[in-house]
Amino acid sequence: MNMNIAVIKGDGIGPEVVSEAMKVLDAVAAKYGHTIAYEQLLMGGCSIDAYGDPLTDETVAKAKKADAVLLGSIGGNTSTSPWYKLPPKKRPEAGLLKIRKELGLFANLRPALLYDQLKDACPLKKEIADKGFDMVIMRELTGGLYFGERKTEEVDGVMTAVDTLTYTETEIRRIAIKAFDIAMKRRKKVTSVDKANVLDSSRLWRKVVEEVAADYPEVSYEHMLVDNAAMQLVKDPAQFDVVLTENMFGDILSDEASMITGSIGMLSSASLNETKFGLYEPSGGSAPDIAGQNIANPIATILSAAMMLRYTFDLDAEADAIEAAVRKVLVEGYRTGDIMSEGCTKVLCDEMGNLIAERV
Ligand code: NAD
Repeated sequence: MNMNIAVIKGDGIGPEVVSEAMKVLDAVAAKYGHTIAYEQLLMGGCSIDAYGDPLTDETVAKAKKADAVLLGSIGGNTSTSPWYKLPPKKRPEAGLLKIRKELGLFANLRPALLYDQLKDACPLKKEIADKGFDMVIMRELTGGLYFGERKTEEVDGVMTAVDTLTYTETEIRRIAIKAFDIAMKRRKKVTSVDKANVLDSSRLWRKVVEEVAADYPEVSYEHMLVDNAAMQLVKDPAQFDVVLTENMFGDILSDEASMITGSIGMLSSASLNETKFGLYEPSGGSAPDIAGQNIANPIATILSAAMMLRYTFDLDAEADAIEAAVRKVLVEGYRTGDIMSEGCTKVLCDEMGNLIAERV
């Protein structure tokens, strides 16, 4: 297969971790007989420095032509960087919001996986951590409370604020289909999270999810109220496979799920649209505190590249090979500084990339 990948290395540790992910992708391509054409693009602070704009229309047009985008992270130190003296629409993060909107990315996928070797980093009780967990949170990204009408006004002499939570059945159906498709590539279970005992939008959510579920007889599904889901995530995270939910619930639950893995440098993510196109990036930021020192953990970005192979290119064996290589280096005791523990071998960012590429 020939893959056209737009690469946005970005700022801070972005260039360091993306270079390692490209190294691993190249190893996969060599082993399985694929070719990869990369087009490097600028976004965020580096684009402000080059073009005075965090994301130019030309860059968006080039990204749209690719099969997928591999992104590092963007932004700098928000207290000291001159980028944050600019108006909000000209700051690095404006590029991120613009690219998500321009590419129609409505589904955010964040895996939360506890590796056996990193169990000590899990803040949950040992008996819960020992059971392990491996789930993905599928969050709706473009609707709901964050995008509904809002206003703040004085009503009868009292300041009153209103936010509106709107979902159409079209918006619910397209993300439900994504969630069930992804469940088919995993353990075939969907937990749809809502607040149907109170909210109309959740009752519509539940109805549409049930309609979609009927087309996936192999996938088991359940509905769960969001308050219960927040408790179950810390009580029994092993029960979850694909957790499907709306924007605000997903915002909160995906951070909770990330937290229980205990290591930000390991967390990958994908944002998808209706086609096979996706934007793949680590969940963490640009980590300006450690940028340029070759000590960042590249695994989150490498695992994001594995997600790209699985979800954009349907190359499951190749994605499995990367995930297995990551496990292997962890089993062999190699760690970057952020996940270092006693008795392990500390390696630099590029050494970690080499170790994983060699084991693909
Ligand atoms: P951050 O995620 O960059 O850093 C938080 C902490 O985690 C830091 O101590 C950092 O060193 C550590 N860390 C993060 N990734 C790591 C890795 N791969 N290996 C080792 N350690 C890692 O969050 P922050 O400090 O709040 O934000 C820094 C900048 O990143 C800001 O400009 C912010 O706006 C931006 N940001 C960008 C994205 C994105 O590009 N999608 C996401 C979040 C934050």
